[in-house]
Formats: sequence, C-alpha cells, structure tokens
Amino acid sequence: MLQRVFTRNFFPVGLRSVSSNPRIDVEGRFPPPVTQLNEHELMFQDNVRRFANNVIKPIVREMDDKAQMHQSVITGSFENGFMGVEVPEKYGGPGSSFFDTVIVVEELARIDPSVSVFVDVQNTLVGPLVMTLGSEEQKQKYLPRICTDWIGSFCLSEASSGSDAFGLKTVAKQDCDDFVINGNKLWITNAGHASFFLVFANADTSKGYKGITCFLVDRDAPGVSVGKKEDKLGIRASSTCPVHFDNVRVHKSAILGDYGKGYKYAIECLNAGRIGIGAQMLGLAQGCYDVTIPYLQERKQFGSRLIDFQGMQHQVAQIAVEIEAARLLVYNAARMKENGINFVKQAAMAKLYASQVATTCTSKCVEWLGGVGFTKEFPAEKFYRDSKIGTIYEGTSNIQLNTIAKHVDSEYANRGK
Ligand SMILES: Cc1cc2nc3c(=O)[nH]c(=O)nc-3n(C[C@H](O)[C@H](O)[C@H](O)COP(=O)(O)OP(=O)(O)OC[C@H]3O[C@@H](n4cnc5c(N)ncnc54)[C@H](O)[C@@H]3O)c2cc1C
Repeated sequence: MLQRVFTRNFFPVGLRSVSSNPRIDVEGRFPPPVTQLNEHELMFQDNVRRFANNVIKPIVREMDDKAQMHQSVITGSFENGFMGVEVPEKYGGPGSSFFDTVIVVEELARIDPSVSVFVDVQNTLVGPLVMTLGSEEQKQKYLPRICTDWIGSFCLSEASSGSDAFGLKTVAKQDCDDFVINGNKLWITNAGHASFFLVFANADTSKGYKGITCFLVDRDAPGVSVGKKEDKLGIRASSTCPVHFDNVRVHKSAILGDYGKGYKYAIECLNAGRIGIGAQMLGLAQGCYDVTIPYLQERKQFGSRLIDFQGMQHQVAQIAVEIEAARLLVYNAARMKENGINFVKQAAMAKLYASQVATTCTSKCVEWLGGVGFTKEFPAEKFYRDSKIGTIYEGTSNIQLNTIAKHVDSEYANRGK
C-alpha cells in the first residue's frame, strides 16, 4: 500500500523510464525513513526542546504539586508559535504542518505531559475544527486569537456519555434565529483557561445522533460556567473541569459547519487527535527513559554498573525497541494524514500502542531506579502517574481496539471481492 503511494508521489508520469526500479525517485533515492525529519522540522524540534528545557523543566515539580499551569508556560506557548501550528498565515498563524504538531506535542511531553496536552487539544481538535469548518466570519474571529491568546476547549463528554459519546444529553433548542443550549459537560481539558468552547449539543433529539450539532460558545456568554477543577492522579497541571450551559442563547451563526453533522466532525477530528495523544505518550516514554538510563550507567551495586547486569540489559533493550516501534507507528500515521491517505486504523494503533508503551516504560523505569524512583525527587514517578491517561482520553484502549478490529474485519471481508 505505502509502496504504491510512494511510487505515485515520487514518479510523475513521464519520468518513470528514468529508473527501472519503481521505488527509486528520479534522483536515485529510495523513499526516506519515516523517522527522518526535514530541515524545517529539525529546527522546529530544536525550538520546542529549548523552550521545554529552559522554561518548563525548572517548574515541572511545582506545577504538579500545585496542580496549576504556570502563566509563563501559557504565554510562552503562544509566543513561540506552539498554539496555532497549522493556522494559515492569512489568519496570523505559521501555516505549518500536522507533523509539526506531532513534534511539539512529543517534545513537550518529554519534559511535561501536562503542557503537552494543553498544546495538543488546541492544535489537534480546536484549531482544525475552526480551520476546516468555520465560516469566514468565524475564522476571522477565532483563528488569529487561537494563535495569540485564546484557548479553546472541546466539549463532547458528559457524565452519562463517555465512550458512548453520541448518547450525549446536552440539547440546543431552536428559538427563531437562536439556539438555547442546556447541559453539563465533564472532563473538559483546558476549561480553566478557555476563552471559548466547541460544544456538541443535540439540536433535534428525534433524529438521534444525527441531531448533534457543534456550536462555538464564548466563555463570557450568559449561562456558561466552569466548575471545580478535577483533582487527578496525573497530568495534574492540566486543567480538567466540568462546564455547565444553563439556558445559553447563541445565534444560529454560532453553528460550526453544518447543522446535524456534529457527530461526524467529532469522529473525524478525534481520529487525528489520537495521533496527537500517541505523540504525547511517545514523548512521555522517551522523557522517562532519558532520565533513567544515565542513572543505570552511574549507579553501582555488587561492584558493577546497574546497566552491566544482563538481567537489566535485556529489559532496557526491550523498552528501547518498544519506544522505537511506537515512534514508527505515530510518525507513520502522521505522515499518512499529511499525504491524504486514510489513517483511521493507523491512528488508533498509534494511540493504543504508544499508551501501552508509556505505561510499561514508566513502570519499568520506576523499578530500575529502585528507591529513588519511588520518590518525587526523581521525575520517573510523575511520568508513571501521567502515563495512565493515555489509555483513557480520546477513546479508551478498548475503543481503539474496537476501531482496529472493525477495519480488520472489513479489509478481510473485501479481500475476495
Ligand atoms: C484528564 C481527562 C481529560 C479529558 N479531556 C476531555 C476533553 O477535553 N473533552 C471531552 O469531551 N472529553 C474529555 N475527557 C473524557 C474522556 O474522553 C472520557 O473519559 C473517555 O472517553 C472515557 O469515557 P468514560 O470516562 O465515561 O468511561 P466509560 O465510557 O464509562 O468506560 C469505562 C470502561 O468501560 C470500557 N468500555 C466502554 N465501552 C466499551 C465498549 N463498547 N467495548 C469495550 N469496553 C468498553 C472502557 O474501555 C473503560 O475501560 C477527558 C477525560 C479525562 C480523564
């Protein structure tokens, strides 16, 4: 499948005779490795790394203890162009690629997965929905602010509808040219900082999930309130709150995209969002591994470095393989998306596997560090707590498995045809 795509991309018709090997391009190159970054991507990665090390790293522990994102991190994320990565230049953004989003999410997670998800939601869910579905008026209003100072939240989940997201109870009742929204959203990332919300509400319950419509609702609209922040196991600096909509009146021009298509938009953007969470889990695993290996090289027991014991070496090597495999899955899914290839199965695989690797890797790192790994003096403990969320949000691991299994079933059903 991939080979065919490369053949198409690398060989414009008419140039095919240049080489007899269809996998080599006109300059004699094979398709590049999926982990190879171009010059721009390397520069961007370097920028994010510097910000993560200089600004975030010194305050990770404090932010986790206080369960609060520091203002310097929020402001710095905007100033460094991390909050509207793909927003076109016309609307004040850098007009960059989805792969840059993967880079920023991965790199931030190496230092703090809370900051990573803060940036991830803005770039994989909020920004893309406004960019692809917004009216010109909505784009003019929201996109420049998404890049400079406005945080948006994605409000789909409710108390009674998590995995079964389209069983949502929030309603939007039409009243002449307005809609009146009533309902309660739960677990909303970045809600504590949000200036606006993408709200999924049912505008015609008689149509079931086909009544679900997406609305752009400003934080200061009368009837909107943000509840108490959740006290969480991990990603504690990321704000997760309930959001209440009590007779919130919006004009019909607040509908994002088409009336009744909200379910479709939610599925589509969550498919891409899963690559983002895969990148977060990949960065988290890498970050934990990076702080652990040097300790194994330094600490001696029984007269030998810990890393010289074969029992340790095999475990260390196994996790290295798993991190590499997660990176290949995440990067490949992202490259597929950029190339316009259907990536739904690969995104589910990337998210599922990267979150499994993150939980195994961090658990192993805590063990390998011995007593110090169990204390807050060493970052492995925090990575271990942070890793668990990867198996829950944007579709639990079981939901990813359901998606993958559906694809396998239909691929094999269509094989004989
Ligand atoms: C920190 C955090 C941040 C979040 N951020 C957001 C956000 O910004 N916006 C938003 O809309 N939501 C957000 N969520 C909600 C998140 O997406 C849901 O928690 C998630 O989808 C799971 O839903 P649930 O919690 O209701 O669990 P449930 O759906 O009740 O699932 C419980 C268990 O049952 C299993 N299960 C359920 N259905 C099936 C099935 N069909 N087959 C097999 N197993 C099944 C699940 O895998 C899970 O193990 C966030 C959640 C958290 C914890």
